[in-house]
Formats: sequence, structure tokens, C-alpha cells
Amino acid sequence: MSFLNYAMKLIGGASTTSVTCPNCGLKSIQPASKIRLKQAMLCPGCKSLFVASR
Ligand SMILES: [Zn+2]
Repeated sequence: MSFLNYAMKLIGGASTTSVTCPNCGLKSIQPASKIRLKQAMLCPGCKSLFVASR
């Protein structure tokens, strides 16, 4: 965990997590709340929407 991540968690409680795109395999940082709520995320690599499963 980077210091920035740690600081963000302390300040806002808005945690982020890295998810892997099922289409192109690119890892991107997304809000953890999106995964919890099963909301679609936009891949910055191939611009496709996907829902991460945990
Ligand atoms: Zn992708």
C-alpha cells in the first residue's frame, strides 16, 4: 500500500482498489464502493464497461 492510499483512507474513508479488466487485462484503480455495489467500471485501456466480481 502506498502512502497516498493510506492518507486517502485516513482522510475520506474512500478506499480504492485495483481491478483487472476482463477484456484487455489492464489493471486500473477504481473506488472500492463500486465493487461493493456492483456498479460498472470503465476500463482506461479499452474503454469498455465491466463489473468486477469479488
Ligand atoms: Zn480493458
